[in-house]
Amino acid sequence: MQVTKQILDVEKIREDFPSLKNKVYGKALVYLDNGATTLCPQVVIDSMTDFYSNYKANVHRGIHALSEKASEAYEKAHQIVADFINAEFEEIVFTRGTTESLNLVAYSLTSDLKKGDEIVVSEMEHHSNLVPWQQLAKERGLVLKYILVKEDGTLDLVQAKKIINKRTKVVAVTNCSNLLGTINYVKEIGKIAHANGSLIVVDAAQSVPHMKIDVKDYDCDFLAFSGHKMCGPTGIGVLYGKKELLEKLKPFNYGGGMISQVTYEDTKWNDLPWKFEAGTPAIGEAIGLGKAIEYLDSIGMDKIREYEEYLTEYALEKFKILKNVKVFGPKDVKIRGGVISFYIEGLHPHDISEVLDKKYGIAVRGGHMCVQPYVTQRLKVNAVTRASLYFYNTTQEIDLLIEGLKHVMEMFNGRKHGS
Ligand code: PMP
Repeated sequence: MQVTKQILDVEKIREDFPSLKNKVYGKALVYLDNGATTLCPQVVIDSMTDFYSNYKANVHRGIHALSEKASEAYEKAHQIVADFINAEFEEIVFTRGTTESLNLVAYSLTSDLKKGDEIVVSEMEHHSNLVPWQQLAKERGLVLKYILVKEDGTLDLVQAKKIINKRTKVVAVTNCSNLLGTINYVKEIGKIAHANGSLIVVDAAQSVPHMKIDVKDYDCDFLAFSGHKMCGPTGIGVLYGKKELLEKLKPFNYGGGMISQVTYEDTKWNDLPWKFEAGTPAIGEAIGLGKAIEYLDSIGMDKIREYEEYLTEYALEKFKILKNVKVFGPKDVKIRGGVISFYIEGLHPHDISEVLDKKYGIAVRGGHMCVQPYVTQRLKVNAVTRASLYFYNTTQEIDLLIEGLKHVMEMFNGRKHGS
């Protein structure tokens, strides 16, 4: 706990999150489902309440005071996001989330891709960075190839170099796996992609919330993430795209806001980023995301990463005490995020999650984590249980998780033996 204090004042931070005051079945909530979504600090909730209470108006169109204020706040949110990942204002497109951002890229590239072109993804992709490319490949007669995952949970870069070639048009990889926790070398993979004339698309849903990401340093072409996984609201996400690429790319949705001129014969697109933001956007949610980023910045992304590394190491050590529990992903916390997926022989993850919830107030997730091919075809299990950490979690909560797991194992093993 002393080490905890040195890195972050977690006790003070926890005060910022109203959900952490909740009781679950009479127990204090232990929220370990941050890979799915994170909790919101009060300042984020307040910023949205302020918008909905005091200046809810549509953006870009009105010339009245309220619309002016809403537009300013909405544009400020773009700038906050841009600064956060070292991008330009024009390069930040607001979407509904990572899933929509990745679909936007895949859809908008459709007409540039022809039969025989190749797309490369990794075996550990979330469905939202696999299914859009898989379906695009089917529709356009493209070849979809996979970067293999090695035994230690990292990507096989030697094999990646072999499969990425001059026919490759897109390489799409996750920055941090929501199943294994692996932090992938997207910069290196990007270099291989670029050397072959391919684009590199990065799914940063599990990295942007947890560490400092610099898109210029990554030199990625597109990068996607979600507001709700970084203390922000649901319904808002980001697509970063290099300006010159977004300029060339076909719009995803057509309608109001994304045009500069429409005649009965044709349409001219609006400037970036508005060309990709058709219709009324999620204004209050964008404002909430901007506030969430200000909040994260006030703690410091480097500190958040350092603390999560410490917490993950602590958790991995504690898991070693448990017998017959297999923890997936890299052992070295320098190359993994705070996502801990595990499998207990003979126990269904849904049963584990239910007991942890009802008896301990611990929220974890059981299932295939939207990485079904890797779970079923590589790990060869139907489902896993996942505890995923954020900077407001504590070592005491991890201790409770371990205690809970011991209890679950005793309970079910006892039952199996007829007691
Ligand atoms: N990619 C990864 C790695 C994720 O963890 C998730 C969310 N679980 C997504 C994509 C999809 O994010 P969203 O549901 O917010 O669109």
